[in-house]
Amino acid sequence: MKKKITLIAIFVFFALVSVVGCQIQPNEIYEESASLFAMDTYMTFQIYGGNNKDLRKVLNDTEELIINYEKKWSVTDSESEIYLLNHSSGKEVEVSDETIALLQYAKTVATDTNGNFDPTIYPIVKDWGFTTGEYKIPQEERIHELLAYVNYQNIKIDGNRVVIPSHYELDLGAVIKGYVGDEIIELWKQNNVSYGILNLGGNVQTLNQKGKEDWKVGIRDPFNKQSVAVVSVNDKAVVTSGSYERYFVGEDGNTYSHIINPKTGIPVNNGLLSVTIVSEEGRKCDALSTSLFVMGIDEAINYWEDRKDFDFVILSEDKRIIVSENIKDQIEIKDDSWKLEVIK
Ligand code: AMP
Ligand code: MG
Repeated sequence: MKKKITLIAIFVFFALVSVVGCQIQPNEIYEESASLFAMDTYMTFQIYGGNNKDLRKVLNDTEELIINYEKKWSVTDSESEIYLLNHSSGKEVEVSDETIALLQYAKTVATDTNGNFDPTIYPIVKDWGFTTGEYKIPQEERIHELLAYVNYQNIKIDGNRVVIPSHYELDLGAVIKGYVGDEIIELWKQNNVSYGILNLGGNVQTLNQKGKEDWKVGIRDPFNKQSVAVVSVNDKAVVTSGSYERYFVGEDGNTYSHIINPKTGIPVNNGLLSVTIVSEEGRKCDALSTSLFVMGIDEAINYWEDRKDFDFVILSEDKRIIVSENIKDQIEIKDDSWKLEVIK
């Protein structure tokens, strides 16, 4: 009997120690990271959670997700759905639900931005040489000829069937990375990742708060590789479109960037260096950073004033950092030679 009581006492003691032990142990949080070159861009991922084996699996699934989207949406892979559409000579093509969703989204943004964003811009982008790096300034008549093949309204969607007219070609490069970023964040949420950050070639997206801190995202100085400013965010996407990202100097001595005005067929040259959009959704940030770059400062501000459901940080050639009011307290300027201007 005595032996039994002693045994119970020992058991209770150890049980208590292990319970108390569990309580005083801080919850261990693991970090896993990965990098990948896909979709023509360098990507990095950093995720945190309670189990490092689970985190590795989430990163493997993340890579798989990206590779699947790349297969569907590459402009160069002859088996991709976008390639099939671009070589359909006006014939109907049946595509997956994901491609329909992407095209619908691109069409919605094109309508909403009054065609400053146009996913049918590819013929023009190609002619300037931005797809191959063999840059040239096209003849004026050639641009006019090609502009007849640029108009998002002529993308016809019926169920899973899509028709684009002959000579039309899609370029979803201005929205795909944001779109895929949203799908990755969703995957992380579903797999109980505590918090994380991804960077798809400059498209940064965050999940939750970084423990007790905010995520810090640098905004690049277009004149060097430093940060002009740092934005503090939680659970948001921060996406930049910049003329410095891809450009060439033509025979006429002018600089031509890869962001093109779909109405003129000519690279935008409006005094802006970069447009960063901050919002909950990567796809929205990506599409709008390109669109507002095309609009120029006045139209961009008007667009924002009518909606106010995102924030912007615009860098101009005269070294102004023009920001929407809600982000002014989250932004830290790193270089005093730039002047902050808040739009209310
Ligand atoms: P981003 O870096 O997201 O601004 O996307 C720029 C890319 O989108 C360019 O390299 C082109 O392939 C394409 N693009 C250029 N101008 C436009 C435009 N006005 N609308 C939609 N896509 C564009
Ligand atoms: Mg974009």
